[in-house]
Amino acid sequence: MAAVCLTAVMAGCAAPSGQGGRPSRTAASTAAAADESEAADRGGPRPPAAPLGMPGLARQEEERGGEALARREAAVRARLEAVHRWGLERVPLPAPQRPASRPELRPAQGVKLSDGRPPVVYRVPTDEKIVFLTVDDGAEKDPAFSRMAKELGIPLSTFVADYLARSDYGYFRNLAAQGAAVNNHTINHRNLKVLGYDVQHDEICRQQDQLEQQIGARPRLFRPPYGEYNDDTLRAAASCGIEAVPLWNEEAFPDRMEYRYADQRLHPGDIILTHFRGTDLWRGTMPDLLRKVVNDVTAQGFALARLDDYL
Ligand SMILES: [Zn+2]
Repeated sequence: MAAVCLTAVMAGCAAPSGQGGRPSRTAASTAAAADESEAADRGGPRPPAAPLGMPGLARQEEERGGEALARREAAVRARLEAVHRWGLERVPLPAPQRPASRPELRPAQGVKLSDGRPPVVYRVPTDEKIVFLTVDDGAEKDPAFSRMAKELGIPLSTFVADYLARSDYGYFRNLAAQGAAVNNHTINHRNLKVLGYDVQHDEICRQQDQLEQQIGARPRLFRPPYGEYNDDTLRAAASCGIEAVPLWNEEAFPDRMEYRYADQRLHPGDIILTHFRGTDLWRGTMPDLLRKVVNDVTAQGFALARLDDYL
């Protein structure tokens, strides 16, 4: 068990997205990295010993290599301990390397494109076994949730409504500092579809300004409350810097996942919706929710990646 976990964690022991240090992108190179790590754990192939009387420079390089390996092994152990501490059923699969540039969106199932409007995306076109976790609204600000995501290296994209977040924007600044994206979900969480252009513009664009001020980065992504939008919504969003409008194909709860597909399974590129909610609304805590999502995603052979790196 330990050896299996250790190699899996080794392959995925990089920092969360947005913090540099990512694992390899392909399954083959991930496996190669795991083999290499396992060999190192067994005391297997290592760089040949330096001959006696080696020059000082070579000796320093060898010492640095040893320190890097020790740091890597310590990171692996820390993550493995986190997997046990947070009660996951198995080690999460490593996220692939962040794409060098965001893939260009073409007309596809799950993507709606129209000229001059940000694309509306239910599912990111990809062949990789990755899915994206998105967390909405902002009522529950559970420090255990952000700690769990950080310790497990779970990539998150959040969509925050001002009227719920404004009591403690520090919580979301902290999430951003640990690699999560904080995106736009309007000021008052109203159903935009029944509002005129000017009110929609105010709801979306004032939250762009607010998040830029509170978090320190202007969001690129926007999600309309309830997933309800019309052409005015997209036009208003484009006018204040929104580049894409992600919706979702699954919704996660602490005790279940609800799928839009008949086969009741995840598909590559799926966007999973969940919420910052507590036990007042749910039969479970936010760590219970994250445990359920990560267990389901891993059991179906998927890795979680960061939506903002792909849209
Ligand atoms: Zn919402």
